[in-house]
Amino acid sequence: MSSIQRFFVGVLAIVILLVAVLVTRTLGFTSKQIEVSEAEIAAIDTEAVAERLARGIRHRTISHSLEGPVEAEAFEALHAQLVRDFPRVHDALERETVAEWSLLYTWRGRRPDEPAVLLLAHQDVVPVDPNSIDAWTHPPFEGVVADGFVWGRGAIDDKGSMFAILEAVEALVSLGFEPERTLLLAFGHDEEIGGDQGATSIANLLKQRGEKVDFVLDEGGAVTLDTISIVQDPVAVVGVAEKGMASIALTVRSAGGHSSMPPPQSAVGIMAAAIAALEANPMPGRIDGTVDVMLDHLGPELDFPLKLVMANRWLFGPLLSAAFAAEPTLDAMQRTTTAATVFNGGVKPNVLPSRVDAVVNFRVLPGDSVEDVRQHVLRTIDDERIEVRVMDANREPSAIAPIDSPAFEAIRATISSHFPSAIVTPYLVVGGTDSRYFGGLTDNIYRFMPFEFTARDRERMHGTDERIAIHTLTRAIAFYRALIERTAGAAFQSD
Ligand SMILES: [Zn+2]
Repeated sequence: MSSIQRFFVGVLAIVILLVAVLVTRTLGFTSKQIEVSEAEIAAIDTEAVAERLARGIRHRTISHSLEGPVEAEAFEALHAQLVRDFPRVHDALERETVAEWSLLYTWRGRRPDEPAVLLLAHQDVVPVDPNSIDAWTHPPFEGVVADGFVWGRGAIDDKGSMFAILEAVEALVSLGFEPERTLLLAFGHDEEIGGDQGATSIANLLKQRGEKVDFVLDEGGAVTLDTISIVQDPVAVVGVAEKGMASIALTVRSAGGHSSMPPPQSAVGIMAAAIAALEANPMPGRIDGTVDVMLDHLGPELDFPLKLVMANRWLFGPLLSAAFAAEPTLDAMQRTTTAATVFNGGVKPNVLPSRVDAVVNFRVLPGDSVEDVRQHVLRTIDDERIEVRVMDANREPSAIAPIDSPAFEAIRATISSHFPSAIVTPYLVVGGTDSRYFGGLTDNIYRFMPFEFTARDRERMHGTDERIAIHTLTRAIAFYRALIERTAGAAFQSD
C-alpha cells in the first residue's frame, strides 16, 4: 500500500470506529420510564368541585408588592369559605394561621415519629393589569363556571392546586382513610411577592418544632402538551431544583452640565455601553446538572437521529448547547441568564445627566452563585466609572433534589398512572417557588402541579383569561388523593 492508501484506510477505520461507538451508545440509551397500570379515577361531583374553586377565585387575595397593603379581608373571607366548604378537613386536621394569613394544616399520622409529607400551594394571586380587563372572556374575579372551565385569576396559579389538595383530603377523610405518617398542608399568602412572610414563617415554625419532613411537593412543573417541540407525547416535568436570582444595580455619576460642550461619553453612553457588553457576553451555557438528567429521560423517547445526538453528548454537547441558546426557554435551563430590566437617567434634552441608574436581573443556574454573577459583571463591564452593587433581593440557586429517593419514585409512579401517555422527566424550574424556604427540612423538594398545560395555558397564568378545565381539575384531585394514599399510607418506606 502506498502512503496515501494507508492514510485513507486509517481515516476509514476511525470513521467506522466512531460510528460503532455512536450506535452502541444509542442502543444502550434505554428508556427511564416505568410501567404502571392506569389509575381509575373515582367518580366525584364535578359541578360541586368547580363551584368551590369558583367561589375561591372570587376572593381577591392579590399580592400587590412588598410595600403594598395585604388584602386582609379577602384572605379572611377565603379562610372562612374553606371551613364551610371542607368541613371534614377542618374536623380531622388541625389548622393554624401563621404570619397572620398563611395556613398550616396538620393531619397527625398513626406513626408520628415518621417524617411527614408536606404539600404546598399558595393562596395569593398576581394582580390583573387594568388595561387587560376588557380582554377577559369573563371578569377575572367573578369566578365563572362556563364551557367546561372554571375561569378567573388563580384558577391555575395556585388556587387550582390548593383546592385540588383540599378536595383530595376531604374525600380521604370521608372514606375513613387515616394517615400512617403525618400529612402537612402549607398554603402561603405572599408567594407572588417572594414568600418572605408566609412560607418563611411556616418553614421556621416546622424547624422550631423539630418536625421531620420526608418530602415537599410544590407548584413548578406540570404536564406540558406542546412546550417541548421535539417530543410528540405529553411531558410531565418535575422540578428538582430552581434557579437563584441576583439583581445587580449599576450607577454612573458624572459632573453633569450643559449639553453644548459634552465629553465624548455622557453618563447615559457609559451605562449603555455597559449594558450592551453584558448582553453580548452572557455567562457560559453548559449541558450538565439538571439539563443532563432531563436529556437522559427525554432522549431515549426520541426518534433515531435525535436519540443518537442525546446519547452521545460527549461529542455533540457543544452543538446541543448552541441549539439551546437559540431558544430562550431552553437557554434559561443551561445558563445564568442576563436581563436588563431598569434604566433611568436624564431629565432634560439639553442637560447632561449627573446620574444614571440601571438594574440587570440575573437568574442563577445551580452551580453558579450570586458572587460569581457579581464577578462576571465587574469583569465584563471593566469600567471604574460604574458602581456595581448586588441588591438585597437576591438568592442562591436551590440544591438539586435526588431522583433516587422513595418520594421521587412515588411521585413519578403517581404521575405515570394518572397521565399514562406522558414522559416523566426531572427538570430545572427557572422561576421561584415557596418551596425554596423548606431546604433546611429535607433534600427531597419537588415541584409539580398535576395539570395538563399547553403553552397558551401557561401564558394565561399571569396573563389574560386564566382558566382551568374541569376535567383537568378532577384528575388533579385524583392525583393528590393517590399520592397521599401512597406516601402517607402504610406501604411507603422513606429513606
Ligand atoms: Zn404560583
